[in-house]
Amino acid sequence: MRRLFYCDHHEIELPPGHKFPMRKYRLTRELLASDGAYGFEAAPFAAREDLERVHHPAYVERFLAGTLDPAVIRRIGFPWSDGLVRRTLASVGGTLAATRDALDRRYGGNLAGGTHHAFRDEGSGFCVFNDMAVAALWLRTHAGVERVAVVDCDVHQGDGTAQIFNGDPKVFTLSIHGRKNFPFRKQQSTLDIELEDGVEDENYLAVLETALARVMDWKPNFLFYQSGVDGLACDVLGRLALTHDGLKRRDRLVLGACAGAKIPVVITQGGGYGDPIEQTALAHANTFRTALEVFGNGWESAT
Ligand SMILES: [Zn+2]
Repeated sequence: MRRLFYCDHHEIELPPGHKFPMRKYRLTRELLASDGAYGFEAAPFAAREDLERVHHPAYVERFLAGTLDPAVIRRIGFPWSDGLVRRTLASVGGTLAATRDALDRRYGGNLAGGTHHAFRDEGSGFCVFNDMAVAALWLRTHAGVERVAVVDCDVHQGDGTAQIFNGDPKVFTLSIHGRKNFPFRKQQSTLDIELEDGVEDENYLAVLETALARVMDWKPNFLFYQSGVDGLACDVLGRLALTHDGLKRRDRLVLGACAGAKIPVVITQGGGYGDPIEQTALAHANTFRTALEVFGNGWESAT
């Protein structure tokens, strides 16, 4: 059976009224568990040396020790706690473990991660460390994999990922995001697609298809998919008008392109802030369901 990595058992205490929908992670896992098609493994913690391939050792040290400047903590958006440290290390560790699965089995999945607003020296927007960047440099060091693409379909620009890999010719960063949405100071990805508010399925998918063709023409050897579902119409932060069907077609485009070109892919969960949050959890679950449809369930390589 296919497996997914999770870290929602590490609880983070949030102050009353905090807007982050922590509950969605467990809801997503429960939906997938009810399908019976996936097994679930607690994500291992990322090793410090893996984090430090991307992040400044002083930033890593201060986060782990709880000595970050209050302004830096405020930009991350979560109060510091031991639980936050454990959950953060497991979120990155889940993406690293899913990366190993992808090398062996064509794809791997993390029910967390996609923390694309984390920069080299600081976190931002609910992101502490950049899991996809950490895993991309792990691949380069430990698996000799070069030419890595990051396809980021969260409605918020993958600004941390863009900054980390700016000037690195071996990483192609694609971000498809809302022009008027956070972050308000954008970074430069290899390819940025800016969407106006209210974009619907057909326009979105046409734009994605064209952008994805450019990524595939670049011939990546490995792909990270940030599959944020905050483009869903009921999302309170998204400003787009995508449907569940549109998001499924989006997932099929990205994952189908990887399967067709035999490129291993890691699916990270990314953002989603629906009202009700059950709709967001359903959209996240659908992404992993679509992966099963595209790649199948077995250990053997898909052909
Ligand atoms: Zn987002």
